[in-house]
Amino acid sequence: MGNTAADTLAQEAPEAGALTDGFHLVIDALKLNGINNIYNVPGIPITDLGRFMQAEGMRVLSFRHEQHAGYAAAIAGFLTRKPGVCLTVSAPGFLNGLTSLAHATTNCYPMILISGSSEREIVDLMQGDYEEMDQLAIAKPLCKAAYRVLHAEDIGIGIARAIRAAVSGRPGGVYLDLPAALLGQTMDAAVGAKSLVKVIDAAPSQLPAPHAVARALDVLKGAKKPLIILGKGAAYAQADEDIRALVEKSGIPYLPMSMAKGLLPDNHPLSAGAARSLVLKEADVVMLIGARLNWLLSHGKGKQWGEAPKKFVQIDIEPKEMDSNVEIAAPLVGDIASCVKALLDGMGGNWTQPPAEWLNTVVSKRDGNIEKMAPRLQNNNVPMDFHGALGALRKVIADNPDVVLVNEGANTLDFARSIIDMYKPRKRLDVGTWGVMGIGMGQAVAAAVETGCPVLCVEGDSAFGFSGMEVETICRYNLPVCVVVFNNGGIYRGTDVNPTGGADVATTVFVKDARYDKMMEAFGGVGVYATSPDELLRAVTEAIKSGKPTLVNAVIDEKAGTESGRIGNLNPQSVVSKK
Ligand code: ADP
Ligand code: MG
Repeated sequence: MGNTAADTLAQEAPEAGALTDGFHLVIDALKLNGINNIYNVPGIPITDLGRFMQAEGMRVLSFRHEQHAGYAAAIAGFLTRKPGVCLTVSAPGFLNGLTSLAHATTNCYPMILISGSSEREIVDLMQGDYEEMDQLAIAKPLCKAAYRVLHAEDIGIGIARAIRAAVSGRPGGVYLDLPAALLGQTMDAAVGAKSLVKVIDAAPSQLPAPHAVARALDVLKGAKKPLIILGKGAAYAQADEDIRALVEKSGIPYLPMSMAKGLLPDNHPLSAGAARSLVLKEADVVMLIGARLNWLLSHGKGKQWGEAPKKFVQIDIEPKEMDSNVEIAAPLVGDIASCVKALLDGMGGNWTQPPAEWLNTVVSKRDGNIEKMAPRLQNNNVPMDFHGALGALRKVIADNPDVVLVNEGANTLDFARSIIDMYKPRKRLDVGTWGVMGIGMGQAVAAAVETGCPVLCVEGDSAFGFSGMEVETICRYNLPVCVVVFNNGGIYRGTDVNPTGGADVATTVFVKDARYDKMMEAFGGVGVYATSPDELLRAVTEAIKSGKPTLVNAVIDEKAGTESGRIGNLNPQSVVSKK
């Protein structure tokens, strides 16, 4: 984690006899390792830690709820390959942050959740301390590693271990428990400075074995209908040039998983994005690069994958990922950058591209689907349907490819994923492996802070509700975030009725004609009420130009939308029919 903080710290040698304390050792240890942004919710016992961090020049962003601070830290880790740090209070704050820590682990994002905790002696004897909880024990099953530091002289090691655990191998979440008493401990400043550890080569390269590379190339050579699937691990790896070179040199059509969109531009000649069903069914060899054969890929088997036998090549840093769902004919264990480079080298100068017939089939299916979709995206219906509204936003991203897109919802997510083309790597941030709702505003804040680029959040009205209060955070830091709420008055749609005819509305329905735009205005941002795709396009274009916090309430037909979007099949069916 190259930075100059080490040199700065070394130059500022403490005076003889000077003291430091736990607070400042934590700060110095983080800064020494190039960690400067903290996603925080203040309170006992970490309020002063946040204050001191700010005083020492770190950027401390305070949220309204720990879950959103945590989602921000998690996605900061994805974007930067450095652990994103979330700072919370004890017990309830810790638990609120824990969801995002588990989410980071599941998604392979490097993150450190640092929580203050109560008096150890009292907690361990269960004597009823303020916010008493054995946080370390609770965090352990939900993250890659969990550490507690009891002595100020161990802070340097504790933070070094947390960083290494988060970013090395398969990245993930790490919990670091800092008891209140630790922060106030004092020690000699010079001894303290020496106790800090600068982590050298935090995520060491992991080279694939040469015979594994040869095996993978053999399998690829034998393919008549090969396919590459790029996952968010490939986006995380930041090996953008080599991945593009591998796809182009191999001549193999590729399918991006949702957060790998833009790794190569979605309008690339080898993109099979709009021919997804066809390529999954027909491919004979599939090379996975940083993508898992989990539920998002139907576990690599079943109807979606068709009858034809398939061979899988899988590039992953985690050996246990191999054969998790189906047999992997050519496992390539290593970091993506090294594996892709090894494949490129191994392909040499005279690689034979796949039969033209395969590429023609893919391209004609893809172009046919795109052509079929085009008129629906240009409709200017009022109230808007998903296609009309997303047609407008698709244009916004085409005109502003540096914008980071954050996307959550059910229909809003499913339609936006396929309709909005991405042109640059790591520009699409969404609900990830769990399909979790509530990532919106947290990810938006981190995306703006970490990249400096404008952010467009495309949110279902239900999804937005999970983190909506953080629009105050967006306004407070004056971030260039434009939130578009697809307001169809409910979860999935706004037309469900209470089957009993009682006074309560249906379980999936919200207040009619809600004005989410007023929420942004309440905190000094810009609110816009948009009823047509043209208005939506104008409002969002203006928001991106101005960089002002903006919320566009996009009125969507309450009849538009289907149950659970495209994953309604995951809902269990009742066999009991009652009147
Ligand atoms: P998607 O949902 O886009 O398919 P997943 O999160 O399921 O992506 O898969 C990402 C995979 O990438 C994980 O199996 C993870 O181990 C792997 N991975 C993450 N970073 C790297 C890296 N630098 N090198 C190799 N594999 C990586
Ligand atoms: Mg809705």
